[in-house]
Parts: sequence; C-alpha cells; structure tokens
Amino acid sequence: MTEANLAPAAKAPARLQAVRGMNDVLPDEAALWERFEGAVRRVLDLYGYRNVRAPVVEPTPLFVRAIGAATDVVEKEMYTFEDKLSGESLTLRPEATAGIVRAAIEHNLCYERGQRVWLTGPMFRHERPQKGRYRQFHQIDIEVMGAAEPLADAEVIACGWHVLQELGVADGTVLEINTLGDQASRAAYRAALVDYFTTHRDRLSEDSRHRLERNPLRILDSKDEGDRRLVADAPTIFGHLTPEAAGFFDGVLRHLDRFGVPYRKNPRIVRGLDYYSHTAFEFVTDRLGAQGTVMAGGRYDGLVEEMGGPPTPSVGWAAGVERLGLLLPQAPAAPRPVAVVPVGEAAEGPALDLLQALRRAGVVAEIGYRGNLKRRMERANRLHARVALILGEDEIARGVVQLRDLDAGTQDEVPVGEVARRLA
Ligand code: ATP
Ligand code: MG
Repeated sequence: MTEANLAPAAKAPARLQAVRGMNDVLPDEAALWERFEGAVRRVLDLYGYRNVRAPVVEPTPLFVRAIGAATDVVEKEMYTFEDKLSGESLTLRPEATAGIVRAAIEHNLCYERGQRVWLTGPMFRHERPQKGRYRQFHQIDIEVMGAAEPLADAEVIACGWHVLQELGVADGTVLEINTLGDQASRAAYRAALVDYFTTHRDRLSEDSRHRLERNPLRILDSKDEGDRRLVADAPTIFGHLTPEAAGFFDGVLRHLDRFGVPYRKNPRIVRGLDYYSHTAFEFVTDRLGAQGTVMAGGRYDGLVEEMGGPPTPSVGWAAGVERLGLLLPQAPAAPRPVAVVPVGEAAEGPALDLLQALRRAGVVAEIGYRGNLKRRMERANRLHARVALILGEDEIARGVVQLRDLDAGTQDEVPVGEVARRLA
C-alpha cells in the first residue's frame, strides 16, 4: 500500500463500517458470549481438555493440504493474501484443526498419546452472509490426538452433547452420525458413487460435475436442490464397509448408548472437509433453517502423518459460537454495582479509598467523576445500582458511611471498616 492509499479521502469522507459479514459484539450480547464460554470451559475441564492458542494467519499450503484442494472451503472461501515482504501466500484460518495439527507437529505434542486440547477464536470464510453464516465467525474446537479406539470418538461426542446440555440447547438438537469407513471401504464406495452419478451426470449441478471428477464424495454435501434430489437415491456407504470398518462403527454406537447420547444414523453426512475417516457427525437443530448444524466433527486418522508428523489417529469437533448463540435465551443481566457518592470536595479522597477497598473485596463498585449529590444519585439509579454509599465531612469525621438500599429505600449508618463485609 502506498502513502496515498493511507491518506484520508480528499472529498466527503466515507462512513467507516465493519467489513460485510464481520460483526461487532456489543456489551449486551458479549455478556451472552461470556456466559457461553464459561459453560463450555467448565465442561471441557471436566473431560480433561487443555486450552491451546494458535495464530489466526497460517501459510496457505497448510489449509490446502489439510482441508483438501477440491473442497468449497479451499476453492471458494479462503481469505488468502500475499505477505508484502516475503511474497509468501498466507491465509486467515477458515477452521481450527489444521493449525492445531501444525502446532502439535511443530512442538512434538503428538508423541504423547491421547492429548486432549481445545481452542476457541475467530475463523474466516468468504461466504454469502446470512443468518447463522458470516465471514468472520467463531468456533470452539476440541481434539483428541493419538487415540485409535472407537471409545475416543464416543467420548468426544458425549462431551459435545454435555456442552449442549450445559448451554441448555440440547432439546431440539439431534446427533446425526455416519461412518466414512477405512481406506478400502472408501475406495469401494467411491467407485459405486462414480457409477451412480455418472449415469445421472446431466442432472448434476456444474459444481457437482466438477466434484465427480475430483472428489465424488463431496457431492453428498452439496447444497444445490437438484443435487440433493439425486443424492437422496444414491447408494450409501453401509453396503461397502469392510468388516473392520463396520465393527468400528458398531463400537462407537455401543459406547454412545452407554453414554446416553441419542443419535440418528445418517449416511449423507460426509462433512465439508476432506480429512475425515470412520466417524463423521453433526449436531443439527431445526431452529436455524439451512444453517442448522451447530457442532460437527469426526475422525481424521491420516491427517497428522500426511502433514509430516508421526502416525496420530485423532478425533474432534468444532462448534459454531454464533449459531449456538442464536439458540440461547436472553443475555444475562449485568451485575448491579454499588455506587460510592461523596458529598463535598473534602469527601472525594476518602470516597476513592472506599471505592478501591470495595473492589479489592470483590464488590462491583463505581463512582461518578463529578457532580453534586442529586446528580450522583440520579446516576446511581440510571446504572441500576443496588446500594449507594454516601459520605460527607460529618461521616468522615465519625468513620461511618450512609448505606442506602436503593430497592428498599432504607438507609442506615455503617462503620467504614464494615461496609465491604456487609456488601460482599
Ligand atoms: P455448513 O455446512 O453450514 O457450511 P461446514 O460444514 O462448512 O458448515 P464446518 O467446517 O464443519 O462447517 O464448521 C463447524 C461449524 O462451524 C459448523 O457446524 C457451524 O456451526 C460453524 N460454521 C461454519 N461456517 C460458518 C459460517 N460461515 N458462519 C457461522 N458459523 C459457521
Ligand atoms: Mg460451509
């Protein structure tokens, strides 16, 4: 960018606005997010997940290799740009798993079996913005790395179900689950799909004709109406599973029964990303129209190795924070403060001492920066304070404050040293 680009416009200044599809979260809504994050964190702690944080920008080839070149995300949705100094191609992360895998390989985390990690933060996809679909959105992502047993899949899903229950959105949400089998099952199924869709090639959308050549399984995930009608009659993978793959899937379902997680088998679930094998699942609600998938994931046994790490069979999920937010009830009310109200200049210093003592004692407290008694009391009411602590010269001399309960309208005199204890 040149200096000229950075200079303010010479004529009428354009109104500054957020980028389309990228949202501000203002205080009322942010309170909902915080409660949400707290609930998720509590559940993930119970299951032994540890938090990781990774950069929002990664080298573009990471996503192309991990997600797959013939996917919507890589073909159409990535925010990719060139680093001005190095010329390297960089991309704003469209999902979390690739970065976690990169970090795990780079820092040798894969050698410990069964690592449980979670990550939350913004993801970026260049999609058409609509309700529940944005260009910057947020995910919560969990991964168990280095676990080949079907119990790992079931426990990951049970953890997701627990999260949804904790948030109060499990009612009206169903788990849809499928298997993509192992390599051999997948190859046999792929051949059957190519046969089927080739017979109906002329009825496929242009995108899906392209997928038929490059990645036929992706057609099952198409959102095109015509494609979906064809997909409804397509062969399912259940007829092409090797005994091992079928046994694995049975194991997952058996453990889900034990965990008490209800599910519905859905052979159309293939997931938007390329790296899955065996288990693929989505938690879907009917309350958000076409944007009904609130949490989705599966097993990715080959990915870590393909990215240059040791064999590390893994399983995980990602939840869309905004979509879950749309299902949540009203934002919680902000905590009600205690208003400290000095009367006269001489009271201002002692009022600040009291203010800080309250905060140190864990009491939400606030003070107006100026104003007489009347103004300050008006302000306390406007902030919906629960209590006003009024102190003037006389109170200071006697070491007390007037404690006015703003709901009850009562007032009594309390020694300064006892105020914090009384309000905590
Ligand atoms: P969809 O089929 O809705 O496009 P996806 O298969 O692309 O979803 P994933 O890559 O599995 O989605 O991402 C996991 C979750 O992240 C989704 O289930 C959804 O809740 C959320 N998500 C994905 N894309 C968006 C977006 N553009 N805006 C908001 N949330 C999203
Ligand atoms: Mg998508």
